[in-house]
Amino acid sequence: MQIVKKDGPITGEQIAERLSLTRATLRPDLAILTMVGYLDARPRVGYFYLGKTGAQFLGEQIRKKIVNDYKAHPIVIQESSSVFDAITTLFLEDVGTLYVVNKEGYLAGVVSRKDLLRAAMGKHDLGELAVSIIMSRMPNLVTCSPEDTLFDVAKKLIANQIDSLPVVKEVTINGRKEYEMIGRITKTTITKAFVELVEEREV
Ligand code: ADP
Repeated sequence: MQIVKKDGPITGEQIAERLSLTRATLRPDLAILTMVGYLDARPRVGYFYLGKTGAQFLGEQIRKKIVNDYKAHPIVIQESSSVFDAITTLFLEDVGTLYVVNKEGYLAGVVSRKDLLRAAMGKHDLGELAVSIIMSRMPNLVTCSPEDTLFDVAKKLIANQIDSLPVVKEVTINGRKEYEMIGRITKTTITKAFVELVEEREV
């Protein structure tokens, strides 16, 4: 790469000579570099440096980031919990969204800060009002799986105007589709991955 960058266009023969290698030994390396777009070759001209634009490189790196490597522990509450308990949990766990699970522990709903604020503005007894009454529920929940990319998640967060997605694994229990809670991805997760990406490039 350095040779081509500095002295290109240069033929495969000339590069091999500089490296004290045969042209045949070098051929697979040159083929890969050409295939991925770092170099290009023209007959009778030789190899020249194409490089990748920063945006191309960054795009590829972003698409490599997988939910499973970034997911955080999900904070869950039972559907029978009260709104008062949900608000307390929100403060204790320092999160913005709680996932609501049914008796078997599978995902049943989501309650956000504003859901709880809305409930608190009404004339309810918050200790008596169950979160299951105010939560957003299945089948309207937007979820992701551990194999998804962070990029897919980021697009879902934007499209649905929400702050987080539960990471779930679909299971069938007695012929019923259920969602096992595996983790959560929030806007903060995406921001951290973004910072990491830039820092990785600076190393
Ligand atoms: P906030 O309401 O505090 O601004 P969000 O923007 O995350 O937080 O939530 C907006 C609405 O979308 C709320 O009613 C919430 O219950 C719902 N919601 C949040 N996350 C999800 C999700 N993953 N799937 C479906 N609905 C969701």
